[in-house]
Amino acid sequence: MNNKKRNNEIIYSFKCPSCQEGKIDIIKSIYDLPDGDKMLILKFECNRCNFHKNDIIPLTTNMEPGIMTLQIFEEEDLKSKIYRSPTGKLEIPELELIVEPGPRADFYYTNVQGILFRFESAVSIYRNNLEENDPEKGEIDELLDNLKQAIDGKFRFTLKITDFQGGSYIIPLDKSKYSFEKI
Ligand SMILES: [Zn+2]
Repeated sequence: MNNKKRNNEIIYSFKCPSCQEGKIDIIKSIYDLPDGDKMLILKFECNRCNFHKNDIIPLTTNMEPGIMTLQIFEEEDLKSKIYRSPTGKLEIPELELIVEPGPRADFYYTNVQGILFRFESAVSIYRNNLEENDPEKGEIDELLDNLKQAIDGKFRFTLKITDFQGGSYIIPLDKSKYSFEKI
């Protein structure tokens, strides 16, 4: 293997949230470092305004198709990074929350807490559209309550990503709470 090999790959594009006109490409680059480690760099760049963001991730996870499971016990676990590729299905079974595979930029690259915030906002919008006397309201309120506790690190849950094509990954802060099962 060549030490300096570098791959640039555009993995996803969406409309710029800042200027609403430009297109943002998410560019994934993998660097092989001289000591044998790999690093993944994700770049978000708008082609019209100067909206941009970078994230550098040490690549210790594999990119094989599989089921990734992370147990969240405490607040610290919420900082684990999550990358759901468009082919990945993301689930929190204890809360019956699911993001089906598809290009949903808001569930793309974030940490566990970011995922919970997005779910909370989606569920709140759903609740506000229910009729005042809708029997589902009680259930939804309970779910929102559990989500708030989860955001504070007071609700134990499992975050699971199933990806038949590979590309999704979880970078756990505590590796003992993470497992990977090949498909
Ligand atoms: Zn822009």
